[in-house]
Amino acid sequence: MSEAVEGGAVEGGAVESGAEVAVAERFEELYGTAPEGVWAAPGRVNLIGEHTDYNDGFVMPFALPHTTVAAVSRRTDGVLRLHSSDVDGGVVELALDALAPESDRGWTAYPAGVVWALREAGHAVTGADVHLTSTVPAGAGLSSSAALEVVVALALNDLFGLGLKGWQLARLCQRAENVYVGAPTGIMDQTASACCERGHALFLDTRDLSQKQIPFDLAAEGMQLLVVDTQVKHSHSEGEYGKRRAGCEKGSALLGVDALRDVAYDDLDAALERLGDEEEVRRLVRHVVTENHRVEQVIALLEAGETRAIGPVLVEGHASLRDDFRISCPELDLVVDTAIASGALGARMTGGGFGGSAIVLVESADADTVTKAVEEAFAAAEFTPPRVFVAVPSAGARRAV
Ligand code: ADP
Ligand code: MG
Repeated sequence: MSEAVEGGAVEGGAVESGAEVAVAERFEELYGTAPEGVWAAPGRVNLIGEHTDYNDGFVMPFALPHTTVAAVSRRTDGVLRLHSSDVDGGVVELALDALAPESDRGWTAYPAGVVWALREAGHAVTGADVHLTSTVPAGAGLSSSAALEVVVALALNDLFGLGLKGWQLARLCQRAENVYVGAPTGIMDQTASACCERGHALFLDTRDLSQKQIPFDLAAEGMQLLVVDTQVKHSHSEGEYGKRRAGCEKGSALLGVDALRDVAYDDLDAALERLGDEEEVRRLVRHVVTENHRVEQVIALLEAGETRAIGPVLVEGHASLRDDFRISCPELDLVVDTAIASGALGARMTGGGFGGSAIVLVESADADTVTKAVEEAFAAAEFTPPRVFVAVPSAGARRAV
């Protein structure tokens, strides 16, 4: 959403240097006093494990260097004041007692939803002044919404001494997004933003929320992971997401399991046979079961130090999303096909699908060649030019000042 992203590569860096100072200064201009503190929460990209999180399955995101940075102070009078430098308009003032699910269709629903969820869970939040800014591109499948929720939740957790852990904050943020904003999402995005660690990907079991930090320091091994934001969002994406979720639920009902996570990879053929002529459900089931298996494969490879070998697993994941789950689009397929043809180690679409971003694993020496090939292919296809940046596995949410 800001210059830092428009410029291309944003590498490393906890918070872009100086951002926390600028945010604190703007807070003071808006509200007349210095903030009590400044917090930062990152966007995320999912390495592998797509559309598994609402099937109780496995995901493996890592945090981006791009963050949402918020300056926050407590209030005691039941008022919430919100301001974002990324949105036109002034300070929005809300009464805490009037917060109600799906009452707000604007950006303020995300932070207000967090306050609502905290209070509804019995936490004594008595009001706040918030000013924020973000370098997480919005609507690109990189979870600017989770970064926004988590930064507010962490700030309030610290300021009001709530003592909640990262995974608990993530749950409350998910509730804010599902119930208050009214957007059906799994638990991955908020957990990634809250819990990721620099130089690691986060293995998350979405059934019991158990976590494991998996070393993923690509630069040290001479590789880079590029994010290619296609800048496309196809309008039917939300309806299609709902259909996939419903199809997965139908699959687990037909198979008599709580969730598709319970279908073991070794039992996949038998499960598909049981589904008989339910062709669409069979495809969805096959994606979810093989995708969970791919997450396990990637973890095993990374833990064995065989990072380059994850490339083909990413490509298989893309094929599964394209052919079985059917949520890719011409732009995402073009990124993946072009990247592989021009020497990338692996590539796949990431995020919900029908647009958004793809990830490309490359030898650092090949990054420019692959980027240029993708840009040229987009130009030849007369697609909107993609935005390409290097995704360095970065820190999760933290207090910045
Ligand atoms: P994604 O999470 O993939 O970026 P979403 O549609 O889930 O996309 O969330 C994007 C929405 O989150 C924006 O439309 C806006 O309402 C809100 N948002 C994200 N970042 C900011 C910000 N810095 N300031 C204000 N609103 C933001
Ligand atoms: Mg989102």
